[in-house]
Amino acid sequence: MDTLNYKCPNCSAGLTFDSKEQKMKCEFCGSTYSLEELDKLAEQQDTVEEDKTEKWKGFEPEQWQSDEKSNMAVWNCPSCGAEILAEKTTGSTVCPYCDNPMIMPEQFKDSYRPDYIIPFMKSKKEAKQALKAHYEGKPLLPKVFKDENHLEEIRAVYVPFWLFDLDTAGRFSYEATKTRVWEDDDYNYTATRFYHVVRAGKINFRKIPVDGSKAIDDTMMEAIEPYEYQDLTEFNMSYLSGYMADKYDQEPDELTGRVYERMEQSVKDCFEASVKGYATVTPKQEKVTVTNKGEVKYGLFPVWFLNTKWNGKTYSFAMNGQTGRLIGDLPVGKDLAVKYWFKCHIPLTIAMTAIVTALRFMGVI
Ligand SMILES: [Zn+2]
Ligand SMILES: [Zn+2]
Repeated sequence: MDTLNYKCPNCSAGLTFDSKEQKMKCEFCGSTYSLEELDKLAEQQDTVEEDKTEKWKGFEPEQWQSDEKSNMAVWNCPSCGAEILAEKTTGSTVCPYCDNPMIMPEQFKDSYRPDYIIPFMKSKKEAKQALKAHYEGKPLLPKVFKDENHLEEIRAVYVPFWLFDLDTAGRFSYEATKTRVWEDDDYNYTATRFYHVVRAGKINFRKIPVDGSKAIDDTMMEAIEPYEYQDLTEFNMSYLSGYMADKYDQEPDELTGRVYERMEQSVKDCFEASVKGYATVTPKQEKVTVTNKGEVKYGLFPVWFLNTKWNGKTYSFAMNGQTGRLIGDLPVGKDLAVKYWFKCHIPLTIAMTAIVTALRFMGVI
């Protein structure tokens, strides 16, 4: 980890903070600068260049091979518009999202072949058990939810995800404080130190997942993430045997906004997590630049779904088919807890500085 030191822009000598003037001062040439001025100058010297290309690079979709195509069929849901890929031998089937009967068109509509798949790790039995456990302790739950025949309708679906590579640079500043409290015979004392904290660095993201299906509620998908990439395998037709796969209906370039949203939140979290040891931290300036829009890949991730209709409303249950993380909307007791997908665990190259800008001292009787 590097430390950023404020150097005099005029003569390059080190600067120190003058608490009286609330400015950085050069002992050598006598110049003074506000912290804002210095941060502006540092920002201008950053060699960070934004990648403004509109399209994602390296998106060369693979096509299905002809023997694969001959085994597959696409079902359409006339109600919600979902398109589901499954083996031709699959009997009549209902839409996993809205429970309406689906129709198989005569023509196989071609689409991209997935690059990767995370195979189902959780069986139907495990999904049903998880659902039952989710219902436990809710005696007011209507019977229709717990009905064994209904639970049997839980469906395994491979959900289409686009996986984006992205390089970013961030520059953040915070106002932070440290407090010290002590007492003597007469007084209680509180001393608060104020810090101007600056962080600058780069984060390179690999395979940021964003689902490519309009039929699926984004909040719901985010709630059952993350998927662990150690099981990410090269796609092979045999994984689809006995399963349905939702066909993407949003292409990567349509999803750039959502990719950036996820990335920006993660960058902010990572940088803020690096500001440690203070009593309070308030972000002052946040700047995130995309320096390289990279490759996109196409993956299928496993989800168990069950919808329950009750009192004119549809309640949805979804379980991550790899990790078992679940979300379930129930008419009794809301527990929709959306967790952010990204834990700050990727290496972050970062330069940091913290200087004391003020010391407030209070004596309280
Ligand atoms: Zn100077
Ligand atoms: Zn549907």
